[in-house]
Amino acid sequence: QRLVRLRTQFETGALDFGHWQEISEEFDQRIDQELDEMGSSALGATELSALQQAVRDHVDRLNATLAEYREAETKREQALREQVQDLQEKVTAMEAESREAQKELRRERERAATDMLTQLPNREALEERLDQEYRRWHRYREPTSLAIIDIDWFKGINDTYGHLAGDKVLQLLARSLRENLRETDYIARYGGEEFIILLPATPLETAVAVLDKLRERIQSLPFHFRHERVEVTFSGGVTGFMEVNGPHELLDIADRALYRTKEQGRNRVLPAAEQDRRSGGER
Ligand code: GH3
Ligand code: MG
Ligand code: MG
Repeated sequence: QRLVRLRTQFETGALDFGHWQEISEEFDQRIDQELDEMGSSALGATELSALQQAVRDHVDRLNATLAEYREAETKREQALREQVQDLQEKVTAMEAESREAQKELRRERERAATDMLTQLPNREALEERLDQEYRRWHRYREPTSLAIIDIDWFKGINDTYGHLAGDKVLQLLARSLRENLRETDYIARYGGEEFIILLPATPLETAVAVLDKLRERIQSLPFHFRHERVEVTFSGGVTGFMEVNGPHELLDIADRALYRTKEQGRNRVLPAAEQDRRSGGER
């Protein structure tokens, strides 16, 4: 809309060359006419003094016409200058506005990819990243691991201490994950009390060791509700990247390993086993 308005202004303003052409043609005609008349006067003159007078009159009128023309042109130039400056200011303002809009768009996009409670990337962001990491693994075959962790008995924490306490646990856990993992590890909140971690350049055994250390650390975090220390633990299933039909299958494989940790009593981390690669036995 702004551009359309600017364009209209451009066409109807001082830059109306059609209008200026008319004025300039009219001046040409007046000068031609003046010169014609001067020629006729000269031809028809019989007396020197009358001829002198006639020429003087014509020259005066020519001068006046030229002065008028010059003045009109000066005004036109001034108007053009103002118009150009005005346009420049408008373009500068629009450029600034567009930069601001781009920034806002970036912020908006980031917000849409972030989980509000924990400030971690959300499920949508994870899915995009997982696709990317899987393609990278497929090309370079550098050992990469994926872990899914799930807080143990989380419903019990909510039920006993309230939903807000549960939220606090999620926030503290998220912060602790971020602080204890590498900058290059990708951590996302996958759902309620489940988190996914992508560990580039990390073979399965190392990833399991990393996750297990993390598990111990979280278990020893001093969570306190109603002046009472509450132990928060999680269980985790880990898989190395492998040839699958789609990266989603990696989530399924890790999830089946997680399921076994829950069966075995929770608060532990297990690597995916051969049986986890087969579908079935899903939660
Ligand atoms: P398990 O050890 O088998 O994982 O048991 P669990 O209680 O952790 O598992 P379950 O799936 O039964 O319960 C998960 C709970 O997480 C239930 C749901 O109310 C809670 N939850 C999910 N999202 C949020 C959240 O954003 N805030 C809070 N406070 N609770 C949440
Ligand atoms: Mg769960
Ligand atoms: Mg749970």
